[in-house]
Amino acid sequence: MPIKKILIANRGEIAVRVMQTCRRLKIATVAIYSEADHHAQHVRMADQAVYLGSVDLADSYLNIEKIIQAARDSGADAIHPGYGFLSERPAFAEAVSKAGLIFIGAPAEAMKLMGSKSAAKRSMIAANVPCVPGYQGADQNESVLLKAAQEIGFPVLIKATAGGGGKGMKIVEKEADFFNQLTSAKREAKNAFGDDEVILEKYITRPKHIEVQVFADQHHNVVHLFERDCSTQRRYQKIIEEAPAAGLSDATRTDLLNAAVKAAQAIDYVGAGTVEFIMDDQDHFYFMEMNTRLQVEHRVTELITGQDLVEWQIDVADGKPLSLNQMQIRPKGHAIQVRVYAEDADNDFLPSTGLLEQVKLVSVNGSLVDSGVQSGDTVSIHYDPMIAKLVIWAEDRTQCIDDTLCVLDQSVIFGVKTNLGFLAKILSHKNFKENLIFTNTLDNELLDLSLPLSPEAVAVYAHQLLSSHTNKAWLKMDGWRPTGEEPVYLSLIQGNETSDFKVRMEMNAVVVNERVYYHVQPGDVCYVHRNQVQVIHNHMRHNFTLPDYEAQASVSNSNEVSAPMPGKIIEVKVQVGDAVKSGDTLLVMEAMKMELQLSAERDAVIADIHYSAGDQVLADVVLVELSDNE
Ligand code: ADP
Ligand code: ADP
Ligand code: MG
Repeated sequence: MPIKKILIANRGEIAVRVMQTCRRLKIATVAIYSEADHHAQHVRMADQAVYLGSVDLADSYLNIEKIIQAARDSGADAIHPGYGFLSERPAFAEAVSKAGLIFIGAPAEAMKLMGSKSAAKRSMIAANVPCVPGYQGADQNESVLLKAAQEIGFPVLIKATAGGGGKGMKIVEKEADFFNQLTSAKREAKNAFGDDEVILEKYITRPKHIEVQVFADQHHNVVHLFERDCSTQRRYQKIIEEAPAAGLSDATRTDLLNAAVKAAQAIDYVGAGTVEFIMDDQDHFYFMEMNTRLQVEHRVTELITGQDLVEWQIDVADGKPLSLNQMQIRPKGHAIQVRVYAEDADNDFLPSTGLLEQVKLVSVNGSLVDSGVQSGDTVSIHYDPMIAKLVIWAEDRTQCIDDTLCVLDQSVIFGVKTNLGFLAKILSHKNFKENLIFTNTLDNELLDLSLPLSPEAVAVYAHQLLSSHTNKAWLKMDGWRPTGEEPVYLSLIQGNETSDFKVRMEMNAVVVNERVYYHVQPGDVCYVHRNQVQVIHNHMRHNFTLPDYEAQASVSNSNEVSAPMPGKIIEVKVQVGDAVKSGDTLLVMEAMKMELQLSAERDAVIADIHYSAGDQVLADVVLVELSDNE
């Protein structure tokens, strides 16, 4: 019996992406969700959705029993785990099979083996797959580890055996630092993975991360779908990935692809897998680890091969043989994926949460937007800050970089900070174009970049236009004079409407042409959303906050007091009928671990109160209504 209904045990963009393939294949979908995700896109998109529990992961996305019960209750016959969460937990795969359901993922045995960096490396050494020189023994005695490190030669990398997601790794530059770094690595590993075993590796100093997508069916057929270069990383986390890898010789590529297939064969692998290699500047490559699941970056492989890897996963789970043999899988062109994170690139990349007031992520011909969010959704503190992926295909790498920059320039998010500007900064850097980004580059050096001439001028320009367009008095910007011949391309976002303009100075007057498709022309782009302005000049993005005259004007007349961000009501200090004075505290809420006092902006009488202490509220909901003193 082929699979007819799939429960997706995940959230965000990957849940949405899996559902897209299910829809095309006419397979019904079941979403699961936590308290924070009632209105999330993956829930809206699924044919059915099952509520699991609180935002506590153990109560929702990591609760194996509840997920299996949800699959039973909804009549699903298979479970797709996505990535992250339970995707690499052997206990989950086993529990799914035990419940008589199909697990769309790797065999539990392969997960167990590859989940341990030491066991994985030992099995790869046995299979003659080249591995990073190092120590992967069970003996964790400090003196044994030090001796092993001396033999490897410094710098040495300490890795948590149970590690993942770039966590629990420490570079040891010299012998004197060894014990300190070991203690700290073990402590981190214990905290993050509940296991403090480590392995040691030779630290490769100009490393490229090259990985191979492999696929195996239940009939011992194994193929590769070529390689991906994921060297653009920050703190060992990938942010830009591409396929194929630039600058690989044909001979090295052949060896690499063969080694990956050999690795999968050696462990009787089934399903989608990724064999990760690290490559030094002499083009020597070494096995690092195997990810026994669909990878975040699988889309670039799909775009160069024209295949749908989720469909392949479903077919393999169904017991079908692979639909193509190795010779039939041909790569074409070049693909780049950028991961869009809700984070503040100017403030140590701290996650940025809150209401996504506007989300505009564009795709050009041949490109994809994988996103788990839309305008009006909230980015919460509870989950991973990766909110979308933009994936671009072109005939060759140079064109692909240009197209990706073009897509980035046309994309804009207001409400939370994002890394859109940071991504463009990397892609427009000459080192990226010349394939000189190594996995440690972004952590070790600031990319030197030319600064735009005067983004402030462009921002003010935009604000002028905004005010004229909304028929308000032009704002007084003392000392500002529009200058320059260059036109400004401006995208005005109001609610769901986007209007594009070309603005230029002519004889001291601002000339505005509506409906200019700015993206086909060089120049500046400027996005305006309320008092927020993003200016893009030479692909560099600058954020500005202008005085919010509109909000200031409306606030004192408004009869509504709204939640400025999502959070919890701690205390309501007033009752219906109370007369309050301007400045009196009406209620206290807790948001992002801060206490916020919401106070009356004017003298008024409390007409209505919509929430009480303990309630969770979304951003922008009306909390208290006021009426005028008679
Ligand atoms: P990959 O090589 O596919 O990036 P990683 O092991 O680094 O694999 O991590 C998988 C990805 O999944 C990361 O990019 C991270 O952002 C995301 N991720 C990790 N844990 C979770 C989780 N619990 N929920 C959602 N996403 C997660
Ligand atoms: P994880 O399970 O956290 O993904 P990996 O073993 O895949 O751990 O390593 C993550 C990243 O760390 C790699 O992509 C690479 O950037 C870096 N790295 C890993 N091993 C080495 C090494 N031996 N030398 C230099 N960098 C390394
Ligand atoms: Mg890895």
